Amino acid sequence: MKKFFYLVLMVLLTASLIGCGQEEKSGDVNQIPTEVANPQSPDNPTDEPQPSEPTPAQPDKDYILAADDLSNLQLDDPTKPVYDKYIIWERQEKGLPITLPDLEPYEAESTIYLTFDDGPDDKVTPQILDILKAEGVKATFYVCGNMVDTYPDVLKRIFNEGHAIGNHSYNHRYDQLYSSPWSFMEQIIQTDNAIKNVIGVRPFIIRAPGGAGGMFSANYWAMIDECGYVEHDWNALTEDATPSKPNASQQINNVLRNLGDNPPRSVIILMHCNSDKTETVKALPELIKFLRDWGYKFGVVTPMTPQPW
Ligand SMILES: [Zn+2]
Repeated sequence: MKKFFYLVLMVLLTASLIGCGQEEKSGDVNQIPTEVANPQSPDNPTDEPQPSEPTPAQPDKDYILAADDLSNLQLDDPTKPVYDKYIIWERQEKGLPITLPDLEPYEAESTIYLTFDDGPDDKVTPQILDILKAEGVKATFYVCGNMVDTYPDVLKRIFNEGHAIGNHSYNHRYDQLYSSPWSFMEQIIQTDNAIKNVIGVRPFIIRAPGGAGGMFSANYWAMIDECGYVEHDWNALTEDATPSKPNASQQINNVLRNLGDNPPRSVIILMHCNSDKTETVKALPELIKFLRDWGYKFGVVTPMTPQPW
C-alpha cells in the first residue's frame, strides 16, 4: 500500500506543479504556527459592502490551524473550522505527515451541520451569508474550484465570517471525477490550490459530488484516507437540487421528514448555494428556527464531525 501511495503522490505532485508554478514557498517548517500567516488578515476589511453597524473583527483564532505534525486536531469544539497551511504536496516536499491521526468524533451535544454545495456564486451565496450572520449561525460551504476562481471575493467573505470551507472538486464533472481515483484526487488538489490562493489555507474536509456513498469504490476511500482528507456525505437534505425543484416550505418538510420522530444527535443537512437556489434562501430562516427550537446547536464540519450514517 505504501508503494502505491508514494507512486500516487508523485503523480499528484507533478499534476500540482503544473497548476501552481507561482505558489509561494516561504514559511518556517520548524515553527508550529498558532495562527495563520494570512494574506487576508482579519484586520483588513473584506471586499464585501460593510453593514452600517460595526461588526466585531473575527479574531485569528476563529479557526484551528493544523500544526505541522497534525498533533493538535483532537478538538472538542464543533464551531471552529480546521485548516492547513500546506497543500498535501507541500507537506510531502517538507517531509511532514500527510495522513491524519485517528480522531475521536465529536458527539458531546446534539448538533446540526448546515452544508451548502456547488458555490460560491455572487447571488445566492451572499444572501445565505446574510441570513447566517443575522441568525448567528456558522455553516459549511463545500466549494468547487472553478467557482472559487470566478468568485474569490465571496470565498473570502465565507472565510472571514467564520464558516467552514470544504473541497467539492474543481469542475463537478462526474465523467472526469469518477474515471479513476487519480482523476478525483487531481481535482481535489487543484481546488485546494484555488482555495489557498484566495484565503492562504486549505481544508481537510471534502465532499464527493453525488456523495461518496454512491460514487466511491474502495480505492477512492483508500486514496483519500492516505492523503489526509475526510469525506462527509449527509443524513438529511432539502432536495433543493432535485428536478422537482421543491419550494421553500417543501424543502423544510423534506428535512423534517428525514429527521423523523427520533432525530439523530448529529445531523448533516445537504443544501446548495449556486445561482438558481432562491427557494433555499427563502427556506433557510425558518429551517434554522425549527432546528433551534428542537434544541440543536449549530456546528461546522471538521475532521472530527461524526459520519452521518
Ligand atoms: Zn455538488
